[in-house]
Amino acid sequence: MIQRKERPHLLDRRLLMDRSVPGRRGVRLPPLDVPEQRLPPEELLRGDLDLPEVSQPEVVRYFTRLSQLNYSVDTNFYPLGSCTMKYNPKVNDEVASLAGLAWLHPHAPGPCSQGALKLLYRLQGFLGEVTGLPGVSLAPMAGAQAELAGILVIRAYHRSRGEQPRRTMLIPDSAHGTNPASATMGGFQVVGIPSDSQGNLDLEALKGKLGGDLAGIMVTLPSTLGLFEPHILELCRLVHQSGGLVYGDGANMNALLGQANLGDLGFDVVHLNLHKTFSTPHGGGGPGAGPLCVREGLAAFLPAPVAQRVQGNGAEEYRLVRPEHSIGRLGAFHGNFGVLVRAYAYIRALGGPGLRQVSQDAVLNANYLLARLKDRYELAYDRVCMHEVVLSARRQKRRGVRGLDIAKRLLDYGFHAPTMYFPLIVDEALMVEPTETETKETLDAFIAALEAIDEEVSTDPDLVRTAPHSTPVGRLDEARAARQPDLRWRRGRT
Ligand SMILES: *Cc1c(COP(=O)(O)O)cnc(C)c1O
Repeated sequence: MIQRKERPHLLDRRLLMDRSVPGRRGVRLPPLDVPEQRLPPEELLRGDLDLPEVSQPEVVRYFTRLSQLNYSVDTNFYPLGSCTMKYNPKVNDEVASLAGLAWLHPHAPGPCSQGALKLLYRLQGFLGEVTGLPGVSLAPMAGAQAELAGILVIRAYHRSRGEQPRRTMLIPDSAHGTNPASATMGGFQVVGIPSDSQGNLDLEALKGKLGGDLAGIMVTLPSTLGLFEPHILELCRLVHQSGGLVYGDGANMNALLGQANLGDLGFDVVHLNLHKTFSTPHGGGGPGAGPLCVREGLAAFLPAPVAQRVQGNGAEEYRLVRPEHSIGRLGAFHGNFGVLVRAYAYIRALGGPGLRQVSQDAVLNANYLLARLKDRYELAYDRVCMHEVVLSARRQKRRGVRGLDIAKRLLDYGFHAPTMYFPLIVDEALMVEPTETETKETLDAFIAALEAIDEEVSTDPDLVRTAPHSTPVGRLDEARAARQPDLRWRRGRT
């Protein structure tokens, strides 16, 4: 294997500004052949602006190298649990780049944007079918934003009934951190529900928390432990009996596509993450979309806008409307349109049987990893999993190596690390989500890497504890990088 060390150009850490040479140029403009325009007033102009003076090839090489330092789904396996880092077919990008869609101005009048509005309308219909919840708003631009919107829908629903305010929102202890954050932002008091020894929600504990103050519950199905919740019907029934609503965190639908109708199971409000399940590349904070799907009776509260079909002069016509009791807008315009186009193209290309196949293969791949790895790595819960498997590095920890070290060492083997230390209730958690798009050969190579690392933990634990050894930079101070990012260029500083 060629190590990064042997490719010195990849280690050149000089920023573009540091490569600047006065007078060097990347582009020469042709002589002006249009009328000269006056510049804005003096006070709006800057006298100096430090820009790098570099040649065109230097710019291209600089950014191409940077892109090569990035790990991506397009370079190798990316088993980051709960993030569904699947391969996204390029045809969906191509469709989203079609000039008529990509260049459509958000203020284009209705008659000029009928095709785009029809696409939104039909996507709403598809997602309503996928979830079994027919009221759909495509406005939210992330899972977390959709959660907040859904929580506000639940609040608006309770208020509309004119009862005493209900303030309690139940959330299992395995939940994604955004759930309690969204509920709190929405003005609710979060009450945790523990998981039982099988990783299921503790139904007895739930019964103890029911009552007239209950606004609802936020559940994730499959749970963030990658497990199906066998008591889901009973759980929904109990919450409904107390007058509460059931919110489903559907960020990870990869196990249930075409398999289960969440509306039939008893969910009232569900969000989907199109940038996980429905083919938008993500990571690094790229654009996302978190459509919100609700039961018929809650559609009037949905965030605006919602696409609607009306019968115009004999022909059908599409337009954006504000639902009657809408909780309001979440941003300008109508969500992340390009992400919505990708999801539409993905669903049209696969069709119902294709979506069902996605979830079957995703679950099969996760269970293959579970079966092959469970002798070396402890399982958080020893039972069949759904789209992801949660391992624990407890055994390795007893030999002096932590889950973090194993994750870092995987980088040397060319794999992205799994999600770590989440869910919080699993000690030394390594959460692995293979997705449906990986071949058996890739999964076998990943298994072989984890087996080899387990050997190293016994034979050379320091090698693992000091990994990674082949990346351009070694271990970073992650807390400082997140809290005090130093992103500004200053002259003379390297
Ligand atoms: C990713 C995820 C979210 C949050 O989605 P964002 O789009 O990142 O805001 C919420 N819940 C679960 C279970 C997730 O996996």
